[in-house]
Amino acid sequence: MGKVYLVGAGPGDPELLTLKAARLLARASVVIYDRLVPDEIVAYANPSALFLYAGKEPGRQEEIQRDAFDAMVRHASGSGIVVRLKGGDPMVFGRGGEEWLHLVERGIDVEVVPGVSSAISVPALAGIPLTCRGVAASFAVIAGHRQNLQAPDWISYRGIDTLVVLMGVEFRDIIATTLMELGRPASLPVAFIERGATARERVVTATLGEVARGQVDVAAPAVFVIGEVVTMRAVLTNARREAALAR
Ligand code: SAH
Repeated sequence: MGKVYLVGAGPGDPELLTLKAARLLARASVVIYDRLVPDEIVAYANPSALFLYAGKEPGRQEEIQRDAFDAMVRHASGSGIVVRLKGGDPMVFGRGGEEWLHLVERGIDVEVVPGVSSAISVPALAGIPLTCRGVAASFAVIAGHRQNLQAPDWISYRGIDTLVVLMGVEFRDIIATTLMELGRPASLPVAFIERGATARERVVTATLGEVARGQVDVAAPAVFVIGEVVTMRAVLTNARREAALAR
């Protein structure tokens, strides 16, 4: 039986691929990749590999996931390298755990190649450290999609300084309202970083209250950061600009 590599592609910039991911891609015979993996990264793969796109389209997620499972199982029986390439880190909301289980249950060997998750790297690239002495000592990464919109789910994050919500654009107003109901102030700073680590990155800063009132216009994919650390963006990016001017 063959082997499947569950590989993280990082947040978007090809330079943030790991050396191991780049090496495996260059030698791959099959590459099964997701929607969040940019073309520039797919271009690192062996040009004679078989490329299979497994990007999830709304309403067809389960069918596409089944096809990806089948493709991995089918191709793993060959002798070549099968790379299952996922955006960010494969084990952070990427269904990597499920795929791993599906493969080992069928006797297929799996190796995980961690990637740089958007949850941590995209805020950092926008000048927002998730923790900072005196400002925030903890963070949580939360899925903001439909299944996770119940208030009780959010109570468990009450004492956490910085919240990072992935897949949170669609229900941002409900999330913000829930957090305010649970005690976070309307004035709390938030940021959305759209398409981080790419040339099309856009950062929108606002307050939790503005998001709750539906006043913040953003498009997916974006990382939604909630907490005092967001104020550091202005300080850090100004300092960067001043340092560049002084040079
Ligand atoms: N495994 C991925 C996350 C998959 S969930 C990781 O570790 O990064 C998909 C969500 O990740 C998107 O809805 C968005 O919230 C976030 N995301 C991934 N890449 C992003 C990027 N380059 N810029 C902004 N958000 C991104």
